[in-house]
Amino acid sequence: MRVGLGHDTHRLAEGRPLILGGITIPHERGLIGHSDADVVLHAVTDALLGAAGLGDIGDAYPDTDPAWHNADSAFFLRETLRRLNQAGWRPVNLDVIIFAQEPKLGPLKGTIRANLARLLNLAVDVINVKAKTGEKVGHIGRAEAIACQAVVLLDRA
Ligand code: MG
Repeated sequence: MRVGLGHDTHRLAEGRPLILGGITIPHERGLIGHSDADVVLHAVTDALLGAAGLGDIGDAYPDTDPAWHNADSAFFLRETLRRLNQAGWRPVNLDVIIFAQEPKLGPLKGTIRANLARLLNLAVDVINVKAKTGEKVGHIGRAEAIACQAVVLLDRA
C-alpha cells in the first residue's frame, strides 16, 4: 500500500466562479488560477500523484500551458486516475479538509463528497470531506484564500 498527501491554496477574487470538488457554489467571489482553480481537485490529484510516485500536478499540467487555461480540473483528476490504474494502483480511501472562512461549507460537504466518489469511481463511504474556517486569522481567516489538504491510500489494483 502507498499513502499520498496533497495541498493547494488559491486566492479569492470577484468575477470568478467558486468551484470546489467539481461543484459550482453560489458565492460573490471565486478562486483565481490558470485552470478553474478548484483547490479540492488539485489537492486530491496531488495526493494521488504523490502516492504513486508520479510527481505533482505542476509537472503533469503546467500552468504555463495554454491548453489548461480555465480547464475543468476534473480532467486532471480523471487523467491521473487513468495513469494510476495503468501503473497498477487503485485508491482505497480519501480524506479531505477544506479550509475556508466563507462561504459556510457545512451544508455542501455531502454534495462534494458524492462528487468526489463519482469522479474516482469509489463508494461514498470511502470518501470523507471535512471543512474548517481559519478562525478569522491569517489568509484563510481573512477570506483572502481557500486551501485544501487531502490524503489518499492506494493499493495494488
Ligand atoms: Mg492549484
